[in-house]
Amino acid sequence: MTGKMVTGKKVSIIGMARSGVALAELLAKNDSSVLVSEMKSGDEPEAKRADLEKFGVKCELGGHTQKVLDADFIAISPGVPMDIDILEQARRRGIPIFSEIEVASWFCAGSIIAITGSNGKTTTTTLLGEILKSCGLKCFVGGNIGIPFASFVSETTPDSYIVLEVSSFQLEGIEQFHPLIAMILNFTPDHLDRYTTMEDYRAAKARIYENMGEGDRLILNIDDPESTKFMPDPSVGVRWFSNRSNDDAHAYVDSEYLVLKSDKGTFPIIRVRDIGIPGPHNLANSAAASLAALIIGVDVNDISTTLKEFKGVEHRLERVAVFRGVTFINDSKGTNVDSVSMALKSIDSKIVLIAGGKDKGGDFRRLLPQLSAKVVAVVLIGEASDKIALQFSDTVPVYKADSMRKAVEMSSSLARNGETVLLSPGCASFDMFDNFEHRGNVFKEAVNSIMEEAETT
Ligand code: ADP
Repeated sequence: MTGKMVTGKKVSIIGMARSGVALAELLAKNDSSVLVSEMKSGDEPEAKRADLEKFGVKCELGGHTQKVLDADFIAISPGVPMDIDILEQARRRGIPIFSEIEVASWFCAGSIIAITGSNGKTTTTTLLGEILKSCGLKCFVGGNIGIPFASFVSETTPDSYIVLEVSSFQLEGIEQFHPLIAMILNFTPDHLDRYTTMEDYRAAKARIYENMGEGDRLILNIDDPESTKFMPDPSVGVRWFSNRSNDDAHAYVDSEYLVLKSDKGTFPIIRVRDIGIPGPHNLANSAAASLAALIIGVDVNDISTTLKEFKGVEHRLERVAVFRGVTFINDSKGTNVDSVSMALKSIDSKIVLIAGGKDKGGDFRRLLPQLSAKVVAVVLIGEASDKIALQFSDTVPVYKADSMRKAVEMSSSLARNGETVLLSPGCASFDMFDNFEHRGNVFKEAVNSIMEEAETT
């Protein structure tokens, strides 16, 4: 389907989140007849309904009725599970169901670079966007990163690049979505709440390359054994990245330098320690982003300048302050055990770790060797506190706090000069906060107010 073909079509959109709203507006402007159906009711959906009705979009709030099924196709917001009853009914009637990125892609005039993986998507998407912008390329950055594809796709032109963060949920609903370059950064067990097996989860991620062919490139992580199991069509050129020296990789590390390889030669682009974002995981993210930029034809000097200057994304190993010799780092986006492990690896000093929140089923015992090596104390918050305390308490002193403010106070008195207080929860935030951004902001406010109070006393 192309964008033009939606004219006169009846479309139902499930979910009034940001992408559902953006898609409704896009389709209505292209003369589709659109119904948005939302489970929730209340002030917020009512306000959105008022906005959407200005574009001629109809809305139903407080549940999905049979009206949804009077449609040529259904589009879903990323948070909506594929197995809800109304979608089952639609499937029985043969109504196609698409995700927002699929429908938006019908309108896209430029080249898509799609980035997925279990961890590192936002950082790599943002970094690649910065590299492309720095050398004057016309570039859009969006997708799961908070800027829906549908909200800017009408502005794309044939010479533009669209760097898109895509989740496996979005990939479940594609049909024609076709990136020029796709990236799977890594593949570790996360979202096993939504997928019953690793193979289901893998199959969802693998859809990123199902429409790719001759001339397209798939960027994969050769250091991650799970990633080496992805098998695209042989016509797709696979390009590997590695944090080590590796003859099969096109981005790798040699003699302390990140090196890029193409048919034009081999280019040591930056000393690893000069990369602006810390830690082995960010080296991998930098290698993957650089490789995509190289494939597009960006000059290696431009790549190296941005790698040096890029300071990362908020709530990911974000340096908040140094107070009485203690560094405070906000890694609120560290919502699984692997992320906590990565954060611990990225910090050289001894650490007081603030962890906990809403449990996602992770096994925290995997962190025990790192705790013994560099964590002096752990302060736990949220619903998972008891579970984590049981797993940690033989290895490291464990404390519990009933608020973020208390956790920060306790940590700052436990940490000594030269040490780091790290918020890297390894859990979701929804037991105490609206989302991880809210949790990170509350952490930062607590750090700042403790500093201010100390100054005034
Ligand atoms: P995503 O968008 O996939 O959730 P982010 O870039 O927002 O990823 O990073 C989230 C967290 O994941 C970071 O705080 C860091 O702890 C961890 N992380 C980032 N990149 C990687 C990577 N390449 N491998 C493993 N963990 C990573």
